[in-house]
Amino acid sequence: MTLAYVMNRLDRRANDRPNAAWLAELRQRPDAKLVRIAGDATLLDGGRLATWPGPLPELTVFLGLDSAGAPWFACKAERAEGFRDLRSLALEEALPPEELGLLAQARSLIQWHERRNFCSNCAARLEIADAGYRRHCPSCGMDHFPRTDPVAIMVVRHEDSILLGRQKAWKPGMYSALAGFVEPGETIEDAARREVFEEAGVRVGEVRYVTSQPWPFLSNLMIGLIGEAITREIVLDENELEEARWFSAREARAMIDRTHPDGLYAANPYAIAHELVRVALEG
Ligand SMILES: [Zn+2]
Repeated sequence: MTLAYVMNRLDRRANDRPNAAWLAELRQRPDAKLVRIAGDATLLDGGRLATWPGPLPELTVFLGLDSAGAPWFACKAERAEGFRDLRSLALEEALPPEELGLLAQARSLIQWHERRNFCSNCAARLEIADAGYRRHCPSCGMDHFPRTDPVAIMVVRHEDSILLGRQKAWKPGMYSALAGFVEPGETIEDAARREVFEEAGVRVGEVRYVTSQPWPFLSNLMIGLIGEAITREIVLDENELEEARWFSAREARAMIDRTHPDGLYAANPYAIAHELVRVALEG
């Protein structure tokens, strides 16, 4: 299984998005495809992402052109029969990887529009611009852009073991890498070191980047890191975590392979934490 939401083959055509005539033509195309987003779910029709060759609804964002040149759009919908949760689709590998990627793009954009009707500067109603990638305030002139929130997520190593934690709300047996939002004025590496110290009391020295994963619940970008611990004692922040502990390499391997005798496992295989544990064990 590969990471979910990381593959997106659509050509976003960002330079063309401000061109209203170009967009209007795309909206009329008989091969236009429409993804319907209701919260964390999307509509599947016979196991495929739904398509719509007819007129598009008003609040529609342009996702991009596929390899056949067909334009893909996304719109907000009311959840009804046939809608499937995006996490379930990833876990079950129910769609091709590139369709999970465009769903992440669609879900994050649609939720941003749902929550960004009014100007945060002057409270006037905003207009939609650039095919859904900008909202403009006609009153004060301020532009608003869809946000992506960076999250540093890190597997910490020390000698032959790795540090994982779990939150109380998670399913029994699941452990994951420690993570937190990058704050203004902070590097990714320092954010990861800070989070690990705040949540588990462990000091981290060297940090290296591994990979990233869009996480559309709501608009996060998970930035995956491996860190080398310089202290070992754990001091748990019980507001953040139920437990944090060092696992031996052998135990962590069993958690990746789902062969741990106590049923413990290291995140779901479509999530970046699973990949980080795998890479950390490889050295
Ligand atoms: Zn304004």
